[in-house]
Amino acid sequence: RIERLSDLEKLAVLGHGNGGTVYKVRHRQSSAVYALKVLRFDRDATALRERAAHEAEILKRVDSPFVVRCHGVFDGHCGDLCFVMEYMDVGSLHDVLRVRRRMAEKVVAGVARRVLEGLRYLHGMRIVHRDVKPSNLLVNGQGEMKISDFGVSRVVGVGSKDPICMDDSYVGTCAYMSPERLDPDSCGDGYDGFAGDVWALGVVLMECHVGRFPLISAGQRPDWATLMWAICFGDPLMEVGETASPEFESFVGRCLEKDWRRRGSVLELLNHPFVNWCSSTEGPDDDLHGWDK
Ligand code: ATP
Ligand code: MG
Repeated sequence: RIERLSDLEKLAVLGHGNGGTVYKVRHRQSSAVYALKVLRFDRDATALRERAAHEAEILKRVDSPFVVRCHGVFDGHCGDLCFVMEYMDVGSLHDVLRVRRRMAEKVVAGVARRVLEGLRYLHGMRIVHRDVKPSNLLVNGQGEMKISDFGVSRVVGVGSKDPICMDDSYVGTCAYMSPERLDPDSCGDGYDGFAGDVWALGVVLMECHVGRFPLISAGQRPDWATLMWAICFGDPLMEVGETASPEFESFVGRCLEKDWRRRGSVLELLNHPFVNWCSSTEGPDDDLHGWDK
């Protein structure tokens, strides 16, 4: 058990994100290694900080083999908020993609299954992740992949149409955002955000397949207007390519359905032949072993 922040010794910097820095740390008493995420808040962002701290309390209860564990939340210096997280030694899917580029479909199917299991768990707890993207999918040497980073997750109140709302600057990248999140007026009644996580999964899987961000083509300028147009009006499957299996194409098509009401649900997608094909033939090709460079 981690009692105090001072029980942790910093070993290395693992990476920087929008809101702060992630360190590799060691618990002095037990020698266990963790990742420590330090979020910085502006002096005038106390409401935002309080909300994040409140959510962190809820997220400490999250306990699934497909979600990175949060072992504790502490107040750091100058209003910092420090999250002690399970350490994932291989790093993020973003790092892996930079080295590997394209992945075989079977491996992509394994990624799909793991992320869907994580989403099934979170959504079952009424938590919308809201920031599914390669840098938030972490891998360890046991070949496990887990969803991380609840910085922008929302805990959706039962029966509430207006979940806890974070400041948009906190949300970070928009590249994985669904059409309805970019244009909330288009949502209509009843939108609770769960379908946005499925869209983001579709973009991630396309990225694994294509080897780069898939919604804009290589020659296009990756500016805000191009991105926005591509998400809302473009053909999300334009980069699928001729070698893709019909199962893959159908699966990502269900994730990248622009109308959130018609998009596949997590449960539907867990039963999709693309995902089942990988788990029925589980073997060295499907798993994520050997991803450490
Ligand atoms: P954003 O701020 O938009 O979420 P990000 O996900 O890249 O971007 P962070 O969440 O701060 O930013 O993470 C930075 C990097 O630290 C990640 O890309 C990953 O490589 C590493 N990292 C984060 N959490 C862990 C962890 N639990 N174990 C190992 N490495 C981690
Ligand atoms: Mg992150």
